[in-house]
Amino acid sequence: MRIPDIIIAVDGYSSTGKSSFARLIAREFGFQYLDSGALYRGVTLFAIENGLISPDGTIDIPAMEAALETLDIHFEGAGDGSCTFMGDRCVEKDIRTLAVSGKVSPVAAMPQVREYVDRRLRLLGGKKRAVLDGRDIGTTVFPDAELKIFMTADVEVRAMRRMKEMQSKGENVRFEDVLHNLQERDYIDSHREVSPLAMAKDAIVLDNSRMTLDDQMVWLRNIMRKKFNLTDKD
Ligand code: C5P
Repeated sequence: MRIPDIIIAVDGYSSTGKSSFARLIAREFGFQYLDSGALYRGVTLFAIENGLISPDGTIDIPAMEAALETLDIHFEGAGDGSCTFMGDRCVEKDIRTLAVSGKVSPVAAMPQVREYVDRRLRLLGGKKRAVLDGRDIGTTVFPDAELKIFMTADVEVRAMRRMKEMQSKGENVRFEDVLHNLQERDYIDSHREVSPLAMAKDAIVLDNSRMTLDDQMVWLRNIMRKKFNLTDKD
């Protein structure tokens, strides 16, 4: 299938498998993959390590604003080997801990942080042939994206997937804590004032509660065929 030069926005709830799906799309289509959540997590890690966020979640807003002016969070490498960097340090593992997950939603609710991340994403994705995953890619970051997918799945299914993923990385977590964190993030992400998690009007819903990654790729290829009038010979 000849894949057109497009931006694919993959939005949806936490732990619906957006990044696994987006990474696979990038690999199969030869697209650039941009993980917007990794940028929010990077900012959060920086805030935790530098004492800009208190244990109760209060953020030192002036200090955060000042830090954003020089904070360098970026991606290096492609496909499965891609890594999120803060300056010259790979923080891929550090940004996925429950400590960061527990603080990221209030940080991501700060308008200044959203501007910082949006600017970086537009700079990196502006050349098309990119797939981005997040919460507001199709509504705010790239409202003109040619293909918008909105992912959802049962919350228990999502919590189970997330727990297994964390355990496979050596983090010892309980199902109830992961479930609670997901429900909390869903709530904050959907209710914040700036760019809340919402489905774009022209997005296509993908409920993958009972789908494998391969099933999702088959689903996507069907959508692409219809939407862009592609045939397998294209
Ligand atoms: O996608 P991931 O779960 O890694 O994102 C971490 C957090 O970053 C989300 O819970 C959400 O609070 C925030 N986020 C966001 N907008 C995006 C991507 C992530 O607010 N586009």
